[in-house]
Amino acid sequence: MAAQETVDHKYVYDFAEGNKELKDLLGGKGANLAEMTNLGLPVPPGFTITTEACKAYLATGREPDGLAEQIEAHLESLEREMGRRLGDPDDPLLVSVRSGAKFSMPGMMETVLNVGLNDRSVVGLSAQAGGNDRFAWDSYRRLIQMFGKTVCEVPGEEFEHALDEVKRAKGTKNDLDLDADDLRGLVDAYKKIFAKHTGREFPQEPREQLDLAIRAVFESWNAERAVLYRRQERIPADLGTAVNVVSMVFGNLGPDSGTGVAFTRDPASGAQGIYGDYLANAQGEDVVAGIRNTVPLQELEQLDKKSYDELLDIMARLEGHYRDLCDIEFTIERGKLWMLQTRVGKRTAAAAFVIAGQLVDEGLIDLDEALHRVNGAQLAQLMFPRFRLDHDFQPVAKGIGASPGAASGKVVFTSARAVELAAEGESVILVRRETNPDDLNGMIAAQGILTSRGGKTSHAAVVARGMGKTCVSGADELEVDVPAKRFTVGGHTVVEGDVVSIDGTTGKVYLGEVPVMPSEVVQYFEGSLDPEHVDNALVRAVHRIMTHADARRRLLVRTNADTGADAARARRFGAEGIGLCRTEHMFLGDRRELVERLILARTDDERESALAALLPLQRADFEEIFREMDGLPVTVRLIDPPLHEFLPPLEQLAVNVAVAQERGEDVAQEEALLAAVRRMHEENPMLGLRGVRLGLVIPGLFAMQVRAIAEAAVTVTRAGAVARPEIMVPLVGAVQELETVRAEAEKIIAEVVGDSGVEVLIGTMIEVPRAALTAGQIAEAAQFFSFGTNDLTQMGWGFSRDDVEGAFFWRYLELGIFGISPFESIDREGVGRLVRIAAEEGRAARPELKLGVCGEHGGDPDSVHFFHEVGLDYVSCSPFRVPVARLEAGRASVETDGSDSR
Ligand code: ADP
Ligand code: MG
Ligand code: MG
Repeated sequence: MAAQETVDHKYVYDFAEGNKELKDLLGGKGANLAEMTNLGLPVPPGFTITTEACKAYLATGREPDGLAEQIEAHLESLEREMGRRLGDPDDPLLVSVRSGAKFSMPGMMETVLNVGLNDRSVVGLSAQAGGNDRFAWDSYRRLIQMFGKTVCEVPGEEFEHALDEVKRAKGTKNDLDLDADDLRGLVDAYKKIFAKHTGREFPQEPREQLDLAIRAVFESWNAERAVLYRRQERIPADLGTAVNVVSMVFGNLGPDSGTGVAFTRDPASGAQGIYGDYLANAQGEDVVAGIRNTVPLQELEQLDKKSYDELLDIMARLEGHYRDLCDIEFTIERGKLWMLQTRVGKRTAAAAFVIAGQLVDEGLIDLDEALHRVNGAQLAQLMFPRFRLDHDFQPVAKGIGASPGAASGKVVFTSARAVELAAEGESVILVRRETNPDDLNGMIAAQGILTSRGGKTSHAAVVARGMGKTCVSGADELEVDVPAKRFTVGGHTVVEGDVVSIDGTTGKVYLGEVPVMPSEVVQYFEGSLDPEHVDNALVRAVHRIMTHADARRRLLVRTNADTGADAARARRFGAEGIGLCRTEHMFLGDRRELVERLILARTDDERESALAALLPLQRADFEEIFREMDGLPVTVRLIDPPLHEFLPPLEQLAVNVAVAQERGEDVAQEEALLAAVRRMHEENPMLGLRGVRLGLVIPGLFAMQVRAIAEAAVTVTRAGAVARPEIMVPLVGAVQELETVRAEAEKIIAEVVGDSGVEVLIGTMIEVPRAALTAGQIAEAAQFFSFGTNDLTQMGWGFSRDDVEGAFFWRYLELGIFGISPFESIDREGVGRLVRIAAEEGRAARPELKLGVCGEHGGDPDSVHFFHEVGLDYVSCSPFRVPVARLEAGRASVETDGSDSR
């Protein structure tokens, strides 16, 4: 019975049976081929083998029952439809076997073209192509090459070497100069290479070719580079890939044939227009590989007006249908246009905003949908600085601005070297003629990528855009010599280790380091660019989407700021208060001496006089911040770090004392300090005498801070502004701790504020797991909770933050124990659960309890969504992340409302 069920399981779908919603099952490529088929677009017939078949294969190491029969049945109907049979010596049907996972993984997995050719059918193919021997032998040699490389792991260089050899003998650099005899000879050479490496002859049986190719695609899901790419892009490892079997159409039949790729809008800037590359007399992979230089798509109009018009028409239809930027692959076979692929195209951060804005204008989507289509990571990228070029920096070359940003660094020529230098903390620019999937590690490590070949759609360009990494491609003035580790350009020779700068927006390449300037988006946030008047599509789009995000979001966004200047900047960025004002910097600099006096105090008088000296300094700091945040809440955290952090390090003191003693100087003060440092030494300072514990142990310390806060608030309020201080007690684990601090604080506040009208709230951080678990009790004594998710993560996992990231996180990431560091993005199940419990129990005990978060997670997109779901009132993050948090809070509202009106 079970066997019967597996046999009945449907593993193969004709293109006419699928649609674009079936990406999980058919992969993106298959689902979209089906969608285009059903739209009536010219797609070569074919079928898709599901991701489920792939998963079954990967789990058991063999094809699931029934798959072979289903393929047979679909193949037969394809043969009937095409009027040709696979392997027919006189008129063979040829197919491509193409991988296609749910998420696009450019160049990561395998494709084999021209499956079905063998020694006999190559002759038939030639006859069918009107005696075009050259074409037939070219197709055959491509099959052996791709099949050998991807199915049988024959080293690709061997084939390339043999091809170079033939070209050299012929005295040409161009594949197109090779004639049928050359290519026939090449087929022989390829077969020998194949036999040498596999120990068998190239398979002549077409069905065997097909089955082996399908299996190779299944297996490519777990190829090392695919695994690496998935980890980088956070694509789940268990999705599997679908396999598309597509009847071949030929772009290499002569000058009236060709192949190309196109975008319906510029994927770099979002501008409307026609963007693409076309290559006459070529098969698909030639364009994508960037091997030969392509012409801009516009030139197709001269070459083949009918196909060009049809293509533009189809592109417009696809945009209207997908309501988004589409990226397509097409082939023209003797004047007949065929669509081979489409998908919603990857784009730069700038293009994402600009296109979303345009699509709203065009009535294709509404503002909620526009908001849904951009994200905080993209916005963050747009806030990066760019090159400042008012100096006399002259570019030495201009390539294609493939992925924006400004990057400077030392030149390296190999992926391995890039990884090495990056590990030493260097910025590097990876320079290649073109990249291939094996360069992925180096691309991840590099600050930027520079290639001398390939267009906007080359491997380097596509992958860099996906990573948000600066890339200039196709800078063809560069003569790159990878083995010699150098490149030359316009009379300059650049060797490994020299510094270059690349501008991924303009495509320009500079020698040396170019200084940078702030982004326009930042200028807009700072208020120095008026979106209503500036002629900048990006600024206008950002303004429009941010305005909508602000209208939609429920979460407030505050900032972490310790100085008036930070507060002012964050306010311009849209901060609605300060969620965390740390007071420890107020104990640094020339105030260290006072802190030393405080720590060394032997009597109450000594301690009180040190505190009295600190009071006016703190008060002045708070006054400045309250003035900047006029009308907005400011959460001030009482001093948190262990006090010995304010003293000189033990080793240094010990040396000073020894040297001074040697010289016979008076060392009483130094010795006292040294003794204090020894006394206060802690094995685990993060779990030691800090936070509320300090306040309970050192009389008058918190009282001084509370007084400074209250007095500053009164002064600022009397001067006409509105100060709204919120005093936050760190590291509370038990309600009794908070109650003790609170009793003392309330007395001081009552005395200071008098009838000034100032209202001071008292609350606590929730950062010790015990606090989260007893939140119901703690809420009785707290007017607000602020989740300190850094410490909560540290103590929740038992990770010493300062140590673990370098010590073993890489291994945890490698093993997939977590997909991302829990310090970067909140661990929803564990630490997040603590947050949820505390929020629920805290609110149950005190419904008006204000809830916020002030850890680094407050500016992390995914974490912001989590805090929205949990129902916090606000997130607080560094000033620069404020716009990101505003945007993500808006997106979170739109998504949970379910009103993204698709
Ligand atoms: P990728 O996912 O790496 O883009 P594809 O499966 O799209 O790989 O195939 C690589 C190239 O081969 C593409 O340019 C595509 O257009 C071309 N190609 C694939 N199938 C066919 C076919 N049936 N006829 C002609 N060209 C094809
Ligand atoms: Mg493709
Ligand atoms: Mg903390």
